[in-house]
Amino acid sequence: MGFFDKISSGLKKTKETLSMPVSSLFRSSLSVNDELFEELEELLIMGDVGASTAGRICDELKQRVKEQGIKDPMEAKTALKDIVAEMLRGGQEMVLETKPSVVLVIGVNGVGKTTSIGKLASFYKAQGKKVLLSAADTFRAAAIEQLEIWANRADVDMVKHSEGADPAAVVFDSCAAAKARGADIIIVDTAGRLHNKKNLMQELEKIHRVIDRELPNASKEVLLVLDATTGQNAVNQAREFKTAADITGIVLTKLDGTARGGVILSIREDLDVPVKFVGLGEGVDDLQPFDPDGFAAELFSED
Ligand code: GDP
Repeated sequence: MGFFDKISSGLKKTKETLSMPVSSLFRSSLSVNDELFEELEELLIMGDVGASTAGRICDELKQRVKEQGIKDPMEAKTALKDIVAEMLRGGQEMVLETKPSVVLVIGVNGVGKTTSIGKLASFYKAQGKKVLLSAADTFRAAAIEQLEIWANRADVDMVKHSEGADPAAVVFDSCAAAKARGADIIIVDTAGRLHNKKNLMQELEKIHRVIDRELPNASKEVLLVLDATTGQNAVNQAREFKTAADITGIVLTKLDGTARGGVILSIREDLDVPVKFVGLGEGVDDLQPFDPDGFAAELFSED
């Protein structure tokens, strides 16, 4: 299944709560008027798009309707789809230009961090890349064992120390192993907590320092994993993490199980961080690079 088919079945619940009401609003409107804009804003907010983003979308739509002299509600709906696609576009490509490149993955317990790392490993391996996992979330009990299960499943190497070890030391060994084994990508499982921002910042800074010393000029991505089922809480979580780390992208998991897919718009607009991957199921193949146009088209398709 390609992005389009996966996203189509993955977005089933979001379509029921967001897309269908939006579609029927446009279909039942006789003209493009203030009432339509007001109702649209409400529907977007209820669909977890977030109040400020919903307001911005409606303002932009009003503007286009005026500029282009749009009278037909269905034409206005097409303009809405275009606005959403434009809003989501840009920055979603991973920048992994060096050998090895490094992907740091952060996120609180339960969001799907381990699963996403396993899926990412499998995704890049399928592209012929040599992937090395680095088990640097040494704080959480069983995190290392869980990651190892995914390393085996994806059939990639993993560097680990014991629980409680210094994460930066694990990263140091991972850099050395990557150089020795000719790895293309090191995926680092990093901190899975936020209760102490200062510690988190220090830990990440230390990891960055080790990478910069051992692999000068390596491409680095810092991905934050967020659980779409938590809706606006995911946005708040991202806001918090953003103050502690230079996040380059989001992995939004569990889109398949939620009606809250509209949260993608909020993440992009309110936080100005691109969504790079979306999780659409528990299987190893259920992680897809995010396609803004496909997503917008699916969200506002007529079926
Ligand atoms: P971690 O604590 O953040 O490392 O979370 P895990 O990777 O252990 O995942 C927590 C739960 O979420 C597991 O039961 C996963 O199977 C499930 N999960 C992760 N990603 C997805 C996804 O995209 N869709 C669905 N439906 N479940 C997911």
